[in-house]
Amino acid sequence: MATATLPRPTATGPKLPEIRQTQLFIGGQWVPSQSGKTFETINPATEEVIASVAEGDAVDVDLAAKAARKAFESGPWSTMDARDRGRLMNKLADLIEEEGDELAALESLDNGKPIRDAKAADLPLTIDALRYYAGYADKIHGQTIPVRGNYFCYTRKEPVGVVGQIIPWNFPMLMVAWKWGPALAAGCTIVMKPAEQTPLTCLRMARLAQKAGIPDGVINVVPGYGPTAGAAVVKHPGIDKIAFTGEGLTAQIIMREAAPTLKRITFELGGKSPNIIYADSDLDAAAAGAHFGLYFNQGQCCCAGSRVYVEEKIHDKFIEKVAAMNKTRKLGNQLDPATEQGPQVDKAQYDKIMKYIGIGKEQGATMVSGGSRYGDKGFFVQPTLFDGVKDDMAIAREEIFGPVMSVLTFKDTDDIVARANNTSFGLAAAVWTKDVGKAHYLAKKIKAGTVWINCYDVFDAAAPFGGFKMSGMGRELGEEGLRAYTETKTVTVAMG
Ligand code: ADP
Repeated sequence: MATATLPRPTATGPKLPEIRQTQLFIGGQWVPSQSGKTFETINPATEEVIASVAEGDAVDVDLAAKAARKAFESGPWSTMDARDRGRLMNKLADLIEEEGDELAALESLDNGKPIRDAKAADLPLTIDALRYYAGYADKIHGQTIPVRGNYFCYTRKEPVGVVGQIIPWNFPMLMVAWKWGPALAAGCTIVMKPAEQTPLTCLRMARLAQKAGIPDGVINVVPGYGPTAGAAVVKHPGIDKIAFTGEGLTAQIIMREAAPTLKRITFELGGKSPNIIYADSDLDAAAAGAHFGLYFNQGQCCCAGSRVYVEEKIHDKFIEKVAAMNKTRKLGNQLDPATEQGPQVDKAQYDKIMKYIGIGKEQGATMVSGGSRYGDKGFFVQPTLFDGVKDDMAIAREEIFGPVMSVLTFKDTDDIVARANNTSFGLAAAVWTKDVGKAHYLAKKIKAGTVWINCYDVFDAAAPFGGFKMSGMGRELGEEGLRAYTETKTVTVAMG
């Protein structure tokens, strides 16, 4: 991969989106933080500041939690018909669609993801998740229970209350939809803390929520850092539940800090997902799928197929195909519609990835392509392909969260099941084969929350997503995703 100077956006080239919301959104008001502090969000391609954003802290979280509580207990949200909640959610989805180009550009600018991906993936999935859950708002039913005796017994599904939602930077807008969708459908109110690297689309979506008519206080957004604003959300006694997406180590802190208030918790965490490619698969499709499954979003996906197990006899051909795709991959300015790979989100991620590339080399893996920085500005990492990786190497065991593919080989099904499961993670897996029996056998045997067969990264708002083992607790999306936002109340009535 040749080095190149990054083209800068020009009047004729990609247009920079306008930055409109940089303050906290509390109780329907745009306000500075109580401390007056701000933090900078940067463009990871140029390392230049995009905007200064109000930096929330414990006092701001407290105000947000109180606003959310008021909206939950006594505001119009608490008495609104479920169907009307759904109508407002649909309106929000419509507004996001109307401002789609602007939102996609903002997401691309703040996160570094190619604008083409923001438009083709993040935006439609965001809209879809909100519409899917809007449809659920008036379909959250209890049951009637045939108990012994002369009693009428029924259950009500009630909203869990005020929910604290802490999201990461890799799919900022989509994570907002995955979190707001089930919470709003269930009738909860929200204190959201977006990631410090990427607060801009979340703030823009809050503005659209207000424009859609979602009552003040239902959605509150407090940007800030994890150990301050995030920790305050976790500890706040007026918040009933935490939904967190991020790193396992952070989840362990959250679990400890949520213990004194016994909050309900759902986690969506990391992974080291095996992608298993048999010799009887369509190799072109498998290679393209494995490439997409790893390099998409600069490798910054919790479900990235980062352990690629290839059946021995097709190994050489597979490597050849992936290396060829890496060679032609277009890196550059994320706002350029031709760009296929943008920068990593920030310097910390860039450094972490480069460290793993160094460890991969040291531990004896063979570097087939990439391995270096791209360009001389921004946090670009060349698409990197390691061959000859062994199960015990760090690059086969630890989450890199970057464009680094580790290729291992396997002999047969017995060999691969044990090796695929030899990890503390269990988020996703994929199997490529034309043998239906083998595919379903592996789908059963692999301990992961999602198994893709002859495809990768296929998401749908209706299909539950989450992790086995240390990859998570609970599920997002689908009907299961709603459960975390409801409490079941049993009502028993003496008859006659
Ligand atoms: P990532 O590697 O994706 O940044 P993190 O788990 O560090 O993973 O961050 C995910 C989200 O969790 C971010 O919004 C971050 O600010 C927040 N966060 C980080 N540390 C804490 C913490 N101690 N308590 C609550 N939230 C935190």
